[in-house]
Amino acid sequence: MDELIERAARAILESRLTLALTGAGISVESGIPDFRSRGGLWDRFDPEEYATIYAFKKNPEKVWEMLKEMEATVDRARPNPAHQGLAELEKMGFLRAVITQNIDNLHQEAGSRDVIEYHGNSRSLICIWCNRRYNYTDKKGEYPPYCECGKILKPEVIFFGESIPSSAMTRSYQLACSCQALLIIGTSVLVYPCSALPIQAKQAGSVIIEINLERTVITDQITDIFIQGKASERVSQVASAVKQLSRL
Ligand code: NAD
Repeated sequence: MDELIERAARAILESRLTLALTGAGISVESGIPDFRSRGGLWDRFDPEEYATIYAFKKNPEKVWEMLKEMEATVDRARPNPAHQGLAELEKMGFLRAVITQNIDNLHQEAGSRDVIEYHGNSRSLICIWCNRRYNYTDKKGEYPPYCECGKILKPEVIFFGESIPSSAMTRSYQLACSCQALLIIGTSVLVYPCSALPIQAKQAGSVIIEINLERTVITDQITDIFIQGKASERVSQVASAVKQLSRL
């Protein structure tokens, strides 16, 4: 067993409360590009121009050109072994919750039950003018989809410039302040306020385990165990090691 994988697995086994914090990188191998992937969605649609609430309010039809593609990409995506590994850790009783910045619903599809969606979920639509909500399947194929009040609907994801749902923020903060191991997977840890959670966990004494293709802003600052590589391979290795060592 790889030494770093074993150290991560032992930290999880010794922890009374383990959390995972995931970002776009965990879903790249499911076919959803992160902000850095070449030729991906964000190469053609600048997030500054298409993913702000100001852009949506000013010109929702234009933003829906990007949302239409994003919806098709998310529709095609299926959970990969990294999502499945986290679901398995939860099922085995070694992972309390997943805090995700992703809006793709893949953790739930993989079987994770306690998922805190920091940036919302694209599978639900909301009217920002009258607050009516719709399941995205009720409006499938409508571009842009309209509310019965006549306004254009927005996916219930948090655009830049919008507030994080207070329930997600409060619960994430409470869990981060009491966790003993934090697995940080596929995130550049640059988007605030989610980026504050690893620091809160570290201050609470948690072991910080980071899985990423490359080093990030936190790697040399607070990470205890840095496991470089693809999330799909590395998370499954950690989950298998936890399973194996828990039986000894
Ligand atoms: P990011 O794009 O800033 O960073 C992605 C990170 O994942 C990078 O550090 C990269 O090195 C790493 N990575 C890429 N492929 C990987 C792989 N196969 N295995 C392991 N690591 C890999 O993403 P972020 O930190 O999540 O922040 C961007 C914001 O964009 C978030 O707020 C998120 O809501 C949103 N977003 C979500 C999705 C989604 O729902 N799937 C996709 C794109 C962007």
